[in-house]
Amino acid sequence: MAKYDVAIIGSGPGGYVAAIRAGELGLKTVVVEKDPYLGGTCLHVGCIPTKVLLHHADVYDHFKNANELGFEVSGLKINWANVLDRKDKIVKKHAKGIEFLFKKNKVEWVQGWGRYEGPGKVSVDNNGKKSTIEATNVILASGSEARALPGIEPDHKQILTNRSILQLPEIPKSLIVVGAGAVGVEFASIYNSFGSQVTILEALPRVVPVEDEEISVELEKTFKKKNIQIYTSSKVETVKKDAKGVTVTFKDKDGKAQTLQAEKLLLAVGRMPLAENCGLEKTKAKLERGFVHVGRYMETDEKGLFAVGDIVAGLPQLAHAAMMEGIVAVTHMAGKPTHPVRKDRIPNATYCEPQIGSIGLTEEQARDAGYAVKVGKFPFVGNSKATILGSHGGFIKVVSEEKYGEVLGIHIIGPLATEILAEAAATLNLEGTIDDMMNVIHAHPTVWEAMGDAFASVRGLQINV
Ligand SMILES: Cc1cc2nc3c(=O)[nH]c(=O)nc-3n(C[C@H](O)[C@H](O)[C@H](O)COP(=O)(O)OP(=O)(O)OC[C@H]3O[C@@H](n4cnc5c(N)ncnc54)[C@H](O)[C@@H]3O)c2cc1C
Repeated sequence: MAKYDVAIIGSGPGGYVAAIRAGELGLKTVVVEKDPYLGGTCLHVGCIPTKVLLHHADVYDHFKNANELGFEVSGLKINWANVLDRKDKIVKKHAKGIEFLFKKNKVEWVQGWGRYEGPGKVSVDNNGKKSTIEATNVILASGSEARALPGIEPDHKQILTNRSILQLPEIPKSLIVVGAGAVGVEFASIYNSFGSQVTILEALPRVVPVEDEEISVELEKTFKKKNIQIYTSSKVETVKKDAKGVTVTFKDKDGKAQTLQAEKLLLAVGRMPLAENCGLEKTKAKLERGFVHVGRYMETDEKGLFAVGDIVAGLPQLAHAAMMEGIVAVTHMAGKPTHPVRKDRIPNATYCEPQIGSIGLTEEQARDAGYAVKVGKFPFVGNSKATILGSHGGFIKVVSEEKYGEVLGIHIIGPLATEILAEAAATLNLEGTIDDMMNVIHAHPTVWEAMGDAFASVRGLQINV
C-alpha cells in the first residue's frame, strides 16, 4: 500500500487546485473522486456550463440588437442542440485538462467514494470494491449539492435544479426561478435572453441579497426593463405539477395571495454541504448544520484532517474561495509560509446581464462596523468604451473610510464588471487608499478606466460626469 503525504477527497476547485499545488510543492498526492471525471460542481454543473450559456445569451442579444450596430440580420434562430453541444465540449476539454495537470504534477487519482477512517487513513469504495489509502494529511473537499424546499422536491422534468436545467432539450416558454442569489439571477438572465418569460420569486426583501443595497436596486430595475417579473419578500407556499407545467402559490410582499404558472420551475435556494458519510462523525471536527469548522490554515479540530471549499463553515461557497483555501492548506502542510484566507478579501462575481462584481464591505456593513464612511459613485454613462459597447447602464460604488481614505469595499454593476473587479481585488489586498488609486494611470479608452473616476468621485474629483 502506497503512503502519501496528502489524500484529497473530491476533485472540485477546492480539491484539484490543492492537489496540483501539493504536487508542485513536492508532496506525494492522491485524489479520491466518486465521479468518473475530475472537476466537481464548478466544471460540470456550475461555473463553467453557466458561463458558456451566458456567453451564448450575450452573443444572441448582440444579434437581436444588430440594427443598432448597423447590421441587417435575418433568419436568426437558436440551434439549442448545438448550444448544448458546445457547452459539453468545453466542459469535457477542461476535465481532460485537469487530468493532464495531474499527470504533469505527479498527482494520482482513484475513482470511488472516499471516507476518512481515522488519522492517516482514507477508505475508497468503488461500487463495492474497497481499498485503503494511507496519508499523513487528509483534505475533505466534498463540496455541495442544490438545496430543496420542504415539500417541493425536484423531479428534474418540471421542477429543476442547477443540474437538470442544463439538460433541457428545449428552451422553456416560461420559467419561474425561486431564489435571487447568484445562481438564480444568472439562469434568469440566460433564459430571458433566449426568449423565455422569466419570473423570479425571492423570500428576502431584495434580489442578490449579499450585495450592496444599491446594486440590488439597480439589478431589479434593469431586469424589470428586460421584462423579467420580480417578486421579493415572497415565499413560495405550494407547487403543483400538471401536464402544462407548474402552478405556484405564494404571498407577495403586501400579503396578497398570488398564483403563477410556468412550464418549468428552477429551485435556486442555496447549496447544502456534502459532508455526510465522509467519516466525520467519529472525529473531533466541529460541524454546524453540516458545515465543517476549520482554523486559520483550514485544519479541522481533528489533527491532520483539513476541509476546504463549499463544506467549510463561515466562508462563501465560491470556486475561487475553494481554490485559495486548498492552496493555503497544502502550503501550510508543506511547511511553507502562507496567509490565511480573509473573508472580506474574497471577490463576488455574478455573470448575469448586467454583470455584478464586488469585494469588501458594503456601505451598510462599513457603517455597522463603526467606520466614518465616505462613498463615491461613478455611472458608466460617463465612460466612452461602455458607450462603444452599447452597454452604459450601471455604476461603480467605492466605500472608503474618511480619515485615511482606506478603500473598504468596491461594488460594480455594469459592463465587464466581473473583469474590472481585478483592480478592486488588488486595491483591497494591497490596502490601497483613495489617494493611491487616484494616482493609477488607467488606459483609455477602457471600461476599466471607470475605476479611476470612481475612486476620484469619493473626493468629488471625477472627470467624466
Ligand atoms: C449553477 C452554479 C453556478 C456557479 N457559478 C459559480 C461561478 O461563476 N463562480 C464561482 O466562484 N462559483 C460558482 N459556483 C459555486 C462553485 O461551483 C462552488 O463554490 C465550487 O464548485 C465548490 O468547490 P468544491 O471543491 O468545494 O466542491 P465541488 O465543486 O462540489 O466538488 C466536490 C467534488 O467532490 C466529489 N465528492 C463528494 N463527496 C465525495 C466522496 N465522499 N468521495 C469522493 N468524491 C466525493 C464530488 O463528486 C465533486 O466532484 C456555482 C455553483 C452553481 C451550482
